[in-house]
Amino acid sequence: MKSTDLKRKKRSAGGDSKGAARNTASGIRGRRKSLDQAALAFGRPKNKTSKTMLKSTSPEMARLFYSPEAQAVKKEICAVGWKLWMRSYVDGNGGNISCRIGENAVICTPTLLSKVDLKPEDLCLVDLEGNQLAGDLPRTSEAFLHLEIYKNVPEARAVVHCHPPHATAYAITGCIPPSPIIPEFDVFVGRVAITPYETPGTKKFAETVIPFVRNHNTILLGNHGIVCWADSPTHAEWYAENLETYCWTLLISKQLDVPFARIPFEKEQDLLAIKKRLGLPDARFSMKKYTRSDRSEDSGKIALTPLGAKRK
Ligand SMILES: [Zn+2]
Repeated sequence: MKSTDLKRKKRSAGGDSKGAARNTASGIRGRRKSLDQAALAFGRPKNKTSKTMLKSTSPEMARLFYSPEAQAVKKEICAVGWKLWMRSYVDGNGGNISCRIGENAVICTPTLLSKVDLKPEDLCLVDLEGNQLAGDLPRTSEAFLHLEIYKNVPEARAVVHCHPPHATAYAITGCIPPSPIIPEFDVFVGRVAITPYETPGTKKFAETVIPFVRNHNTILLGNHGIVCWADSPTHAEWYAENLETYCWTLLISKQLDVPFARIPFEKEQDLLAIKKRLGLPDARFSMKKYTRSDRSEDSGKIALTPLGAKRK
C-alpha cells in the first residue's frame, strides 16, 4: 500500500485531528447510538447503560476491571485491534480479542464494533461461562470460542480471532498449509489444525477447537477464519501474522508451478528442539516417537483431521 493510501486509510478511520472528534462525549454517544441501532437490527438486546451495568458489577469485579493491570491489558487489546485492522485481518465488525486477567475473569472486545475504533472504555469483562461482569457494551458473540480455549489450556492468557484472507483461503478449502517449509513458521506455529464448520457464536462452534487446542497455538476454523492463543494479546496477534504471511507466500509460490522444497527431516528436529526450548506447543511433541514416516506427504491437500489428532 502506498503511503498516501495509508494516510487516507488512517484518515477515514479517524486517525487525524478531525477524527479526534469521535473521541468527544457526543462522538462516543453518537457511535453508541448507532451501535444500539445495529444491535437491534441484528436482533441483539439493546445496549445497557453504563449505570445499569455498574449496578450489576460487584465491587470486587469493578476493582479488578479498573485496576492498573487491567487498564494496561485494555490498551494492549486496542493496539492489537489496530494492527489487525491495518493488516486487513478484520473486516466490518469482524474479529475479537480477549485476555484472561483472573481465575474466572476475562477482558474481551464488545460485539459490533470495528477493531480500528476500539477504545479501552469499550471493553467488557466476562466470566468463564460468558456472563458479562462489567463494561458498558455487550460482549462479543464469539466469547465462547475464547473461553473454551482458556478452559482447556491453562497457560493461554490471550486469544485473537480474525479473518486474514490468505489463511482463510486455506480454511474455506479445508486445506492444511504444508510444512515444514519455512523455519520461523515451523518454530512459532508449525503444522496447523483445521476444525469442521459450525455456526459462529454457538457453543458447538466454540467446542470444535477442543480436540486441537492443547497441541496447536494457531487453528484454522473451517469456512470461517483463524484463532490463535498465546501468553499475551500481542503474541497471539504475532501468530496470526505468522500464519497469514506463510499462507500468502505458499500461494504466491504456486504460481512458479514447482513443488515445495521441504526442510529435511533431520533439520526439522533442530527446529523442534528450538520450539521445545521456547515452550511452544506442537502436535509432534505428543507423539511417542516422531519418525520420518509421520511426516504427512499429503499435507496441503484436503485433510480435516490434523496431525496429532489422528493418534488419539
Ligand atoms: Zn469470525
